Amino acid sequence: MKVLLTGGTGFIGSHAAVRLIELGHDVEILDNLVNSKVEVLDKIKEITGVKPGFHQVDLLDYEAVREVFKDGGYDLVIHFAGLKAVGESVEKPLLYYENNIEGTINLLKCMRESGVKKIIFSSSATVYGDTGETKFTEEMPVGVKISNPYGKTKYMIEEILRDEAVADEDLEVVILRYFNPIGAHESGLLGEDPNDIPNNLMPIIMKVARGEIKELKIYGDDYETVDGTGVRDYIHVVDLVDGHLAAIKKMKPGVLVYNLGTGRGTSVLEMVKMFEKASGEKLPYEIVGRREGDLGEVIANADKAKKELDWTALRTIEDAMRDTLNYLSQN
Ligand code: NAD
Ligand code: UDP
Repeated sequence: MKVLLTGGTGFIGSHAAVRLIELGHDVEILDNLVNSKVEVLDKIKEITGVKPGFHQVDLLDYEAVREVFKDGGYDLVIHFAGLKAVGESVEKPLLYYENNIEGTINLLKCMRESGVKKIIFSSSATVYGDTGETKFTEEMPVGVKISNPYGKTKYMIEEILRDEAVADEDLEVVILRYFNPIGAHESGLLGEDPNDIPNNLMPIIMKVARGEIKELKIYGDDYETVDGTGVRDYIHVVDLVDGHLAAIKKMKPGVLVYNLGTGRGTSVLEMVKMFEKASGEKLPYEIVGRREGDLGEVIANADKAKKELDWTALRTIEDAMRDTLNYLSQN
């Protein structure tokens, strides 16, 4: 297939590009490089032997996106592009609504105009909101009590996709709700390399380990969890990408929704201990107050993807830590 990856130079998109190329697909990337670097294309080539076609285009630039689609001949779009910093989205909601939602609308308009009928969308566990649940199935309500604009954009895009699929009955949509992607490519060439200060746990742990941040601030130890610290479902980025490959095989007209997680929860303190074991170094940390909008425990029920996609996450958090350390030692 000829596949367009929006956001394909980013953390998850770049790993997807590698896997798709390895399977023999013809991959092109559209990215404005707001949170990634053009060198990623050479890294993809180093791993696969193929440099994907690249369009440095902003999804907000409708005419430029149209140009990409004009001669594209794409069979499938995987839509990774978006801004994803939760805290920033609270400070700059309009930036997030504009970038993520308007960008998606432009993309869907161009897909429509050029007859592209398949799209996979990177959604997030945040769409489940603060319902008091800790383990989430795809059937649970979404869109209620979402604590930040970033999560709301994901929910709204899901709704837009559902409406588009009603209006165009040939459209094939897969919504993938990612839990907490971590790790890096085993080659050490690709990993998470945000242009800004990171706000996710793993990149922060790595910055503390490199001495770029003095200590990890653990946001709260009074949750109703195994040790009081926040519990999340961390999934290796390569497993996550394999979930996309499994979903491609099942695409059909209409909307399919899957959680991509491991079904297992790990606390912040457990993550610290695992990191210390993997690196052989002490990780300085301090317990501070809860982070605004945080939930205590968020774990995927990943049974639906296992049953319908025949996919399950195979790699461990230790694998992810080893791969991340390897990536950092080379970059
Ligand atoms: P990332 O920031 O590494 O990659 C996103 C890419 O999109 C970047 O390369 C960025 O330059 C590009 N981009 C942003 N706005 C754009 C625009 N207007 N036009 C063109 N390109 C644009 O993030 P990631 O971790 O790879 O995440 C990929 C997707 O998965 C995002 O949609 C994110 O919201 C979603 N997601 C990520 C996580 C996570 O923890 N990493 C969790 C759930 C969902
Ligand atoms: N976390 C933390 N300190 C940090 C960053 C994150 O204690 O500097 C905790 C956070 O409270 C949550 C877990 O680590 O319990 C994962 O946070 P992240 O931001 O990576 O993912 P999300 O909260 O979006 O699931």
